[in-house]
Amino acid sequence: MNVPLLDLKAQYAGIRDEVRKAVDEVMDSQLFILGPKVDELEKKVAEYSMTPYAVGVSSGTDALLIALMAIDLRPGDEVITTPFTFFSTAGAVARLGGVPVFVDIDPKTYNLDVAKIEKAVTRKTRAIIPVHLFGQCADMDPIMAAAKKHNLAVIEDAAQSIGADYHGKRAGSIGTMGIFSFFPSKNLGGFGDGGMVVTQDKALYDKLKILRVHGSQPKYYHKIVGGNFRLDAIQAAVLLVKLTRLDDWSLQRRRNAEFYNQKLRMTGLVERGLTVRPDPVYAETGDRNFHIYNQYTIKVKDRDNLRAHLKEKHIGTEVYYPVPLHLQECFKSLGCKKGDFPISEDAAENVVSIPIYPELTDAQKEYVVQSIEEFYK
Ligand SMILES: *Cc1c(COP(=O)(O)O)cnc(C)c1O
Repeated sequence: MNVPLLDLKAQYAGIRDEVRKAVDEVMDSQLFILGPKVDELEKKVAEYSMTPYAVGVSSGTDALLIALMAIDLRPGDEVITTPFTFFSTAGAVARLGGVPVFVDIDPKTYNLDVAKIEKAVTRKTRAIIPVHLFGQCADMDPIMAAAKKHNLAVIEDAAQSIGADYHGKRAGSIGTMGIFSFFPSKNLGGFGDGGMVVTQDKALYDKLKILRVHGSQPKYYHKIVGGNFRLDAIQAAVLLVKLTRLDDWSLQRRRNAEFYNQKLRMTGLVERGLTVRPDPVYAETGDRNFHIYNQYTIKVKDRDNLRAHLKEKHIGTEVYYPVPLHLQECFKSLGCKKGDFPISEDAAENVVSIPIYPELTDAQKEYVVQSIEEFYK
């Protein structure tokens, strides 16, 4: 049996005709840059994420960059974030001359450990970027409280978490701004790069729209320096079709996760140190913390040999992320060393993500669990 980590062909098979029709419309119109499809997608994603305003941009990375430009991040300004994330969360800060200040993660969720934020705040801190990693929201209430106390902006990196809920609020709608990525492997993925910034703040919205087109308003009159951060119409056309399926896909991912949670527990491997993807943890109030499982990530013993075994069985896996950002060569000048963020380092050494995409069959999921069990026998 073959179980790839992600099978986008299976997804495409279900929407092929609709997508081709939508792309055809764009090609017939010959309107490729921004335009009505992008406007419509912005309206729909704003609605979907329960925020009033959305600005379509060229990627999730550019969404982070333009959000930081919108708050006028200056060289030397500090931004608190997690070292256990995709590179661009901190890369965007560094590109503007800002200083990423890392805070370790909570071992249960792999998201920012909110108890450690306060100690990282200095007079230079301008913002916090919590990352809703793997599809689960960071613990936003304490983060927003710390931000309010110290007058900081909060940019939610929801690149992996469109449609996730935290205490009844949608990912991206809680902070000053939220960003999404439409990279093909995200839950809402385009046919290329794309991203979006959402916000509740009309003034920021206006500024983001100007920054997206080189800072010009009106055209050819530049009050500020922006860039080309535009989303194109073909991506918007594809994403509009996919957005109508997103809730179903997220539910199916959750069902798959529940399957793994149950079956992996039944193997007895959890007693022997395998950590399953934790269930939502902020549910004590009865509010939904709706995890949308962009990845299903387990912590295991002897990870690299397990991966080799699964590869032999034609099961795709990936390590998100093998090197925490404080140990990346490009951030050497920050002066961090091994041991500074032990929970992140432990995660980087021991986690592995297994197939969770919506179209997985029961037989495939069963085969994944059996193959993991077989390795530890
Ligand atoms: C994917 C991702 C990004 C970047 O998005 P791109 O669209 O690939 O530029 C940023 N942050 C996180 C957490 C991501 O997973």
